[in-house]
Amino acid sequence: MTDSMNDPLREPSILLVEDDTNVLLLLRTHLERSGYAVSFAATLEEARTLLRKREDFDLVILDRHLPDGDGASLCPLIRLAARHCYILMLTGDATPESKIEGFASGVDDYVTKPFVMEELLARIRAGMRIVELQKELLASNRRFEALSLTDSLTSVRNRRAFDQEFASRFEHAMRYGRPLSIALIDLDHFKSVNDRLGHLAGDAVLRGVARIIESGSRRTDFVARVGGEEFAVLLPEASLFEALHFAEKIRESIAEAPAHPEESGRPVTVSIGVANIPHSLMASPQMLFDAADKALYRAKNRGRNRVECERRKVTDRTSPGDPVSRSQASL
Ligand code: GH3
Ligand code: MG
Ligand code: MG
Ligand code: MG
Repeated sequence: MTDSMNDPLREPSILLVEDDTNVLLLLRTHLERSGYAVSFAATLEEARTLLRKREDFDLVILDRHLPDGDGASLCPLIRLAARHCYILMLTGDATPESKIEGFASGVDDYVTKPFVMEELLARIRAGMRIVELQKELLASNRRFEALSLTDSLTSVRNRRAFDQEFASRFEHAMRYGRPLSIALIDLDHFKSVNDRLGHLAGDAVLRGVARIIESGSRRTDFVARVGGEEFAVLLPEASLFEALHFAEKIRESIAEAPAHPEESGRPVTVSIGVANIPHSLMASPQMLFDAADKALYRAKNRGRNRVECERRKVTDRTSPGDPVSRSQASL
């Protein structure tokens, strides 16, 4: 589907597939006078080329007998190009058998030659009403689909979207032997933030944290809110070291950001658990998630405001040379 499909100002578009030049010229004049944008093709091949180039014809008027075959054979390609498209067959072949065959191949309406122009135009208007409804339905389905995958509080993706995306990215990474990392980010002592500031201010803190995570992520990363005060980031192509570096950067940005005006210098902090594949023990998304969750649990136990990973201790304060050892205890 193209963007122009949803442009309400665009004139409705018709593809006319007809090899009889007289019919073609007559129809074209009337259709254009009625306010339609008309494209035309005299053969199946020309029609196929147009359908492949332009995806968004609203209505196709289809002749059955064309020099290179049966016009009805175009129906599957028309449907593939635009699901909302209305197909009107215009043909001299008026037998009931031929009509039944045409409907069976996907035609929506039939007009037989010789035809009365006013009737054809009336049928086109009726067809366009259905097209409009179909387009509205498809557009609202897309809106609902997007809403059902978005977290309404923070506008990042929600748990449902995360589960879908994690499954497919995990499968892709396993199949092609590519790295995939996950960072689970949980706000520290968030209950007490709510208790001190109230739930609404807590919500604002969650939104702020979501923005920091998003702005620290790449476009190819995937950020989601997977629990009340827990976020997950999928990092495709990131090694464990790169994922730890990312996590440390996020941890630091959140700890340094002004959490809330009423907090008067009291930082909001997060603990982060990181896990990565390839890993011989991680055969499913759940295993990778659990490994990150365990690391997160360890980060909590070891004092919060720190990053831990599934295999090594990262924020080791005894080795200041480590590029990711800048954690401080807080709260
Ligand atoms: P820990 O450091 O161990 O993670 O402590 P915590 O207080 O963050 O964890 P706990 O699981 O005890 O509490 C989570 C809190 O997050 C409790 C809940 O009220 C709050 N929370 C969850 N979802 C939302 C939300 O949508 N808005 C707000 N304001 N608070 C939320
Ligand atoms: Mg013909
Ligand atoms: Mg928490
Ligand atoms: Mg939590």
